[in-house]
Amino acid sequence: MSKPPRRVCVVCGAPAQPRFRAPQPETAPDLDMRPGEPARSTLDQWLRVCRRCGTAAPDLAELPAAAREIAPTLPAESSPFLRHAALCDSLGDASGRAEAILQAAWAADDAGDEQAAAALRRQVADLWADSPATETRLRRLDALRRSGEWQKAEALAEALAGEPLDEIPRAVVTFQRARIAARDTARHLISSALPPPAHAPHVTHVQARRPGLMARLFGRG
Ligand SMILES: [Zn+2]
Repeated sequence: MSKPPRRVCVVCGAPAQPRFRAPQPETAPDLDMRPGEPARSTLDQWLRVCRRCGTAAPDLAELPAAAREIAPTLPAESSPFLRHAALCDSLGDASGRAEAILQAAWAADDAGDEQAAAALRRQVADLWADSPATETRLRRLDALRRSGEWQKAEALAEALAGEPLDEIPRAVVTFQRARIAARDTARHLISSALPPPAHAPHVTHVQARRPGLMARLFGRG
């Protein structure tokens, strides 16, 4: 009988928990792709925080070796999501950094800290400013709207509306334009953006898209 290999934090060598496995969402995601429940409310478990050195990552045992040198030099951040974002930034992982800052915004939402959530969303929108991917641009549009960046939100919505988008992205842009015109910074579900008569089949399409996002968030499909 061989023992399973010892899992340790790459930065300091303390024992490391395995990666968190979030339950699959059963309800529609928000417009910024925060997953529905039951995955949604497990947010505070998505990052593992090392009890010894405080490093935060989905899997402390799978960080690149460079993290050992970098992590101790990073500025102290009380939010594990922002500690992880700073680590991603130092490791050259721009997409991981943006996702971690958005997750920090979600945590601020849950804590009722609207100002912090808006400031974090503005950071995410800046980091995504040059992304050509439609999904990222739609998520950026939501970050701009929810942080009250009306001019930037209107400009992006107008640009997207002039492009040949598929049905669901088009419905999301139409919905966002109405919410932007109403100066609405509230959270909305993707399912709210879809026209009622065709509601059910569209929700199926959205569900089919989820595994990709969950894979990005949790390293699995
Ligand atoms: Zn550690």
